[in-house]
Amino acid sequence: MSYYASPLAALVDELAKLPGIGPKSAQRLAFYLLKASSEEAKRLAIAITEVKEKVRFCTDCFNVSVNERCDICTDLQRDRSIICVVEEARDIVALERTGGFHGLYHVLQGAISPIDGVGPEDIRVKELLARLEGGVAEILIATNPNIEGEATAMYIARLTKPLGVKVTRIASGLPVGGDLEYADEVTLGKALEGRREM
Ligand SMILES: [Zn+2]
Repeated sequence: MSYYASPLAALVDELAKLPGIGPKSAQRLAFYLLKASSEEAKRLAIAITEVKEKVRFCTDCFNVSVNERCDICTDLQRDRSIICVVEEARDIVALERTGGFHGLYHVLQGAISPIDGVGPEDIRVKELLARLEGGVAEILIATNPNIEGEATAMYIARLTKPLGVKVTRIASGLPVGGDLEYADEVTLGKALEGRREM
């Protein structure tokens, strides 16, 4: 039984499902929206609806995109001989901010994690292998420097090295157990420069 009127209870329930939002934060956000102007609340609702309707995943690299292929894949200035492999599309933003990488990307949409029941077939490895047929010389693996990220990097290296592709891994110096997206540009830039062959 909820103490709130049902639309408010429904909003609290939905907000509480978001990552990093506990029941207390969900309540605080719901009451904030209740007090906010109708326009402000509508803008939020529209932003959520539009992201679901208009944003999709690039058919080549699985980056977020409004078109079938993303801006990076369609940019003819990018170096097509190197693919940087990341776990999530938000990692691309972090790497692009360094200005130190000019190749293409491949988003795995996850990392191998036996504890969470995520195996190699649950991430976009098959799609990565399919892309290697088109003259790719190097794969730079930039999965997170934690157990899942390392296991994923090793798995991909094992699969791709026999295909004659140079496989490199971003240098350490990134906080171990950390997330790529929280690394500052300088650290991440240095990690890119100091990549080593796997
Ligand atoms: Zn793309």
